[in-house]
Amino acid sequence: MPKMPKEKKEKKERLPLRTAAAYTLRGYAIWWKADPQLLISKAVSKVVTALLPYLPLYFTARLVNAIAWGLPPAQVWPSLWALLISTAAAGILRAAAACWSETLNGHLWGDWNQIFFEKLLTMDFCDVDNPKTQDLFIKIQQNSNWASWGLLRILNGFENLIGALFGILGAVALSVSLFTLPVPSGSALAWLNHPLCLLGMLGLMLLSVYAASALANKGSSFWAATDGAMGNRLFFFTNCIAICEHQRGTDIRIYAQDRYLADMSRKALKSTDSFGPRSGIGRAARGPMGLCMASSGAVSQAFTGVIYLFAGLKALGGAFGIGSVTQYVGALAGLAQGLSGLLEALGELRTNGEFLKPVYEFLDTPNRMYQGSLTTEKRSDRRYEIEFRDVSFKYPGTDTWALRNVSLRFRAGERLAVVGENGSGKTTFIKLLCRLYDPDEGEILLNGIDIRKYRYDEYLALFSVVFQDFQLLSQGLGQNVAAAEEYDRARAEDCLMRAGFGERLSALPKGLDTCLYREFEEDGVEISGGEAQKIALARVLYQDAPFIVLDEPTAALDPEAEAEIYTRFNDIIENKTAVYISHRLSSCRFCDEIAVFDHGRVVQQGSHDALVCAEGKYRSLWEAQAQYYTHQE
Ligand code: ADP
Repeated sequence: MPKMPKEKKEKKERLPLRTAAAYTLRGYAIWWKADPQLLISKAVSKVVTALLPYLPLYFTARLVNAIAWGLPPAQVWPSLWALLISTAAAGILRAAAACWSETLNGHLWGDWNQIFFEKLLTMDFCDVDNPKTQDLFIKIQQNSNWASWGLLRILNGFENLIGALFGILGAVALSVSLFTLPVPSGSALAWLNHPLCLLGMLGLMLLSVYAASALANKGSSFWAATDGAMGNRLFFFTNCIAICEHQRGTDIRIYAQDRYLADMSRKALKSTDSFGPRSGIGRAARGPMGLCMASSGAVSQAFTGVIYLFAGLKALGGAFGIGSVTQYVGALAGLAQGLSGLLEALGELRTNGEFLKPVYEFLDTPNRMYQGSLTTEKRSDRRYEIEFRDVSFKYPGTDTWALRNVSLRFRAGERLAVVGENGSGKTTFIKLLCRLYDPDEGEILLNGIDIRKYRYDEYLALFSVVFQDFQLLSQGLGQNVAAAEEYDRARAEDCLMRAGFGERLSALPKGLDTCLYREFEEDGVEISGGEAQKIALARVLYQDAPFIVLDEPTAALDPEAEAEIYTRFNDIIENKTAVYISHRLSSCRFCDEIAVFDHGRVVQQGSHDALVCAEGKYRSLWEAQAQYYTHQE
């Protein structure tokens, strides 16, 4: 079983508040762009929730005072009505605001996905394919799944901040008179009027607020110090293997890997120490984290006791009625809660800042591919010429050259075959040709100009490609062929026929509208590898780009279909330039030019007849394969 990395235990520097605030503001801007109503509804809901409880508190105090002072019923009724109406109105308003905000919350995950989905789709392919980017994205997902850390947590912080600010405002309004109303001078408790008492109370309040929030922040900082990402990663890996990835599922069953995988996942989850009572966060919760949180609550409660004492004594001394005690205790407790809520929100902002760092690193991945501005010539004669000039390339994160000093030239209308053993660099050559990656050394020219100078989208539009590991989407057949939602049905049908899919198409009751695969539609059809390859070929034909690139286009076809495609290959390709990869040399004989790749280099180039007569790689490959076919016959 692979050894799983343990959670990082080293002490991390805390993010400066200013940086965390800048990250958070940027997060607000991102959410605002995604859905402005989301922030507005959360703000309204929080303002309402923070302020409304003070209304019943105020009227309850008036009512109790009126009763305690023995006022006539005519003077008690208005307070009672005000209490009833304000309580009912507060409840209705709060429910309406929560309903609005919760409804929009339903879109939250969708919006979150969209933010990352759009970035992934527009990112340079070399970055999407880079293990570093994939790792970063998985980390973001896992932080989010862990406790909504990152962009989602910002919204929580936003609500807490608004709630705390308005809670403080309401509390100040209701508690000022606790300090301004004096105990009558004749009372034994008149010393409570002394400014030192007032200062003492304020000092105690600030102290308790500070202590409670510092303890709570210390407690919540344990989240950032322990990393649950690896646990989540394993959790999702094992879940996905069982459910989402049915292709892997067949292997798992055939090789009876189920027990081994279940065991591996159990041990791995244990070793990552991410969940459960013995995990890092579990131990922290039982130990210092729990202690901090509990102490924070205890400090707040102790301060509430002090307010009771102070307000009770002032009421006893005759500064105000007994009913006002509940008002002051409620308001001051609210004030302390608001202040510590504010400090906690600021603390959480710093903790969450750590989780926003990878989010922005991901979202800020630059698009280098899109820097070119030249438009490609729309040549009706399709006179294009491509030249690889001394091109070398390594995949990101690797030390070996996948291509080394490749120089090659081919013109419009030619058929170029790229042959070589597995791993010799054929697909890499195609990926560079289609600008999925840029060379590390040398250049690729289109009609004499470096392809990096052309507009990326226009350059890409010159190519139709069937990659070895192409994927069709779970959409309509016609939409897959056209790679678009709206398309020309007659043309799509024609392309499918030319790609050899005609018979199967006529057997499909829904024809072009048949949904491929069953991810979205129950009556979707599962297609074989060979059928998928034909559809991918039809997609190439539909695009009608000047360059057609086929990477092992017939590997999954049955012999009859393969023979059919070869006989019609010239018709299919018409006047286009075709780059054709295969390690079955017999299928390349029709090409004008054959480039032989070996260990990332072009070791031979020429026509089949010339190459087969010369000493070299091509001949040895040819003889090895010819021998095989002779034995078969
Ligand atoms: P071929 O198409 O001839 O079978 P490739 O072009 O796919 O060969 O691969 C050439 C070399 O580059 C191989 O050594 C392969 O392992 C390596 N390689 C291919 N794709 C990647 C990738 N995405 N990341 C790292 N190395 C890769």
